[in-house]
Amino acid sequence: MSPPDDAVAMTVPDPDPRRRQRPATVPTTVPAAGNRRSHPAPAHLRFFHGPMDCGKSTLALQVDHNQARQGRSGLLLTQGDRSGRPRISSRVGLTREAVEVEATTDLRLLVRSHWAGGRRVDYLIVDEAQFLTPAQVDQLAELVDESHVDVWAFGLTTDFRTRLFPGTQRLLEVADDVQRIQVEVLCWCGLPGLLNARVVDGAIVRHGATVVVADTAPTPAPDEPSSTASAATDVHYQVLCRRHHVLGQLGPTAAGPGQLALS
Ligand SMILES: [Zn+2]
Repeated sequence: MSPPDDAVAMTVPDPDPRRRQRPATVPTTVPAAGNRRSHPAPAHLRFFHGPMDCGKSTLALQVDHNQARQGRSGLLLTQGDRSGRPRISSRVGLTREAVEVEATTDLRLLVRSHWAGGRRVDYLIVDEAQFLTPAQVDQLAELVDESHVDVWAFGLTTDFRTRLFPGTQRLLEVADDVQRIQVEVLCWCGLPGLLNARVVDGAIVRHGATVVVADTAPTPAPDEPSSTASAATDVHYQVLCRRHHVLGQLGPTAAGPGQLALS
């Protein structure tokens, strides 16, 4: 882009028809380079979603690594971590400390408190973003638009009833960029696994409290008051293709171990 040349071109018919078609207002509406540099580059709200075990946390940590390597400072957020030392961990062994977010946490205040403490926050990595409230997603959008904080959010698409999680729905509505994560988890039949099934005592269930999805271990959920599960039942999750989710067919190894962890 060369403003002085354009200004001349507008007063004399241009022999190049492509340049002649350029609107005459272009030179005056394009701000000077110095002006543009005075505004921060626009930030973005990006959302990556998929079923369990699709590699979300691995991707989240990869994005963090790439950003940190460019000298940017980030904050990692997660939800539903019961370890007492919140962190984002992936199946391939990567782990990073994270900040546990509650449903009542105002994410704008969280970031500002870090700023007040003298810590830069150039970007946020949000794992388990399906558990965000719609209001918290809007807070992320405000951080992007008003404070130029880049946000990468990662979450499950649907719950075991095949319905969007509230946080996921709001992110699909307002994110600048939405990507379905390349599915690397397969149904037992070999087709791509798209949907999360809740399995109670070896059978698929389609009703109950969504929040039980937070129980990432293949163990009973005795402390879940609204769960359909009692202390004696085995509750776990299995990724199925759409057809086998509809049919409720869990395959020959449905009760086997090793395929139950939330990523
Ligand atoms: Zn299948």
